[in-house]
Amino acid sequence: MNGASPSRRQFLGGGAVAVVGLAGCLGRLDGTADEEDDDRATDGTDAGDGKEPEVRDDEAEEEEEPPDPPEGGAVVFVYDDGPMEDYTQALPAHRAFDAPATTGIVSEWIGREDFQNSGCMDVEHLEELVDAGWEICSHTTEHTAVGTLPLVEDAAPSDERIYPEEIRHGYHRGKTLEITDGERTLHRTVADYGSDGTGRYIDLDEPLGEACAAGDTIVRYPEEQVEEALGKSKRDLEALGFEIDTFLAPYDNFDDYSRGFATEHYDGIANADHGSRINPREGFDPFHTKRDYFIEFTSPDSVRADLDEIGDRGALGVIGAHTFKEEVTEERIHETLGWVDERGIEVLTLREAIERYAR
Ligand SMILES: [Zn+2]
Repeated sequence: MNGASPSRRQFLGGGAVAVVGLAGCLGRLDGTADEEDDDRATDGTDAGDGKEPEVRDDEAEEEEEPPDPPEGGAVVFVYDDGPMEDYTQALPAHRAFDAPATTGIVSEWIGREDFQNSGCMDVEHLEELVDAGWEICSHTTEHTAVGTLPLVEDAAPSDERIYPEEIRHGYHRGKTLEITDGERTLHRTVADYGSDGTGRYIDLDEPLGEACAAGDTIVRYPEEQVEEALGKSKRDLEALGFEIDTFLAPYDNFDDYSRGFATEHYDGIANADHGSRINPREGFDPFHTKRDYFIEFTSPDSVRADLDEIGDRGALGVIGAHTFKEEVTEERIHETLGWVDERGIEVLTLREAIERYAR
């Protein structure tokens, strides 16, 4: 399971720098830019050992600016959930352009066979992606929602059934929910979920005991569960030999609540602010990354128009796809990479994009 991960690990771990930058998120303007840049230049094309010491020997103590964002803009491809199709459909398309991607892995789903059409990738597949220059990012331990969702129906004290805007937090029966309006906080266990004449609901193990007003009341997982989804997934993936710096939020559900935990573990979030593909060239904040889809839920015209704008503004595009979806084929991914290529836009991993744009 070692593959290329040792060199990647050395690269990030070796620069005590990168760790410092990590803690501060914005504190990467010091002295290490050259080393990062040099390492990047050979990354992905040469997984050879021994380049690290060479770079270090050449490294002078001068203060250097970090590399500028690419003049003609950049795009990060972020794939969801770690299905086998990331390996069979996306990897060949990306190889054809020698372009990397970032893939969001649910740590407990690695090697899972009963997922969608073809199961999930195993460790060996992930190592091959890393060898091809890809970044592995965390997508939680169990695909749990890490943000909050408001109630859309008022609830009475006797109610065991609540109607949040979306019922993501109900998908894991037996987990504890925190239901709060900021002043009163209740904890109940998820009994079930479903839909009735009123809408989609979560059933709780016992009545609320208090009235909860729609809008003012939100549903979320308590701190310990969010902390586990964010922190344990990273630790588990790192124990497999992968360097984990970024996070992809399940269901595009991310907000100030989850941000409070995520900044302790990660350098950035792939989909912190879902709904647009374009991040500014200046003032990019990796904890507010905008991402949207590029095959499902959209049209080729919309994607090409955004790529035009990314190229014109030198902006950072972050685009996603679920490769297990029928329409997300190798051909469609290849076609999109062709549009990126013909506009002279660079393809980066999210980790690389943060280094270039977050400054
Ligand atoms: Zn997902």
